[in-house]
Amino acid sequence: MTIADRYVRERERVSEACEAAGRSPDEVTLLAVSKTVDVEGARQAFEAGARAFGENRPDELMAKAEALPEAQWHFIGNIQSRRIPDIVRHASLIHSLCELRHAEKISRVAGELGQVQDVLVEVNVSGEASKSGVSPDEALARVQRIAQLPWVRVRGLMTMAPQGDARVARACFDGLVALAAEIRSQLAPDQAAGFDQISAGMSEDWPEAVAAGSTIVRIGRAIFSEEFA
Ligand SMILES: *Cc1c(COP(=O)(O)O)cnc(C)c1O
Repeated sequence: MTIADRYVRERERVSEACEAAGRSPDEVTLLAVSKTVDVEGARQAFEAGARAFGENRPDELMAKAEALPEAQWHFIGNIQSRRIPDIVRHASLIHSLCELRHAEKISRVAGELGQVQDVLVEVNVSGEASKSGVSPDEALARVQRIAQLPWVRVRGLMTMAPQGDARVARACFDGLVALAAEIRSQLAPDQAAGFDQISAGMSEDWPEAVAAGSTIVRIGRAIFSEEFA
């Protein structure tokens, strides 16, 4: 199968999973995580209909976003302070924000460009030591602080589930969705209105995430890797 075939297949599967969950397929963005392929690979997915792409390295984000500006580019990787200007210039949504000092710098840089930066706060729902993200206990306070920054808009939460067990992943996504609802109920009405995104689910566990209420599934290998069944 080509990348185009794989993209179309995943888009259809996601739409079917939405319908099975009683949700509209329009509610779920399929983010094509193109970090393992070059611009040409991303372009093949674009030509098959992909419009939103995820990258986890600033250099790759910049190169691909400049080569394919018709698409939306999201940053899903570890944030390094010195790369924030490059990320803000190219990413319409940053999924992986945890630290307040990074949020402050994002706001400064976005302000200099005269644009509001959309972000998600990454939460370590599972508590695995290997995973980044704020703890669920800290999430409300972190979102509230970030929401006060003038050039940042917090659009919701992101998480990564432990791999290998669908039930564990589902519990993790349910936890994220419940936490997002709790946080939304504590935000000022204008902030709550825009706090509507849940970034959850990857190639192996996105069906659980869609069933739980995810609005963005981040799919890499199922689209771009020949090895992924
Ligand atoms: C690589 C990556 C993905 C995609 O993972 P696949 O298993 O290839 O679908 C999703 N989210 C993040 C944060 C990633 O780094």
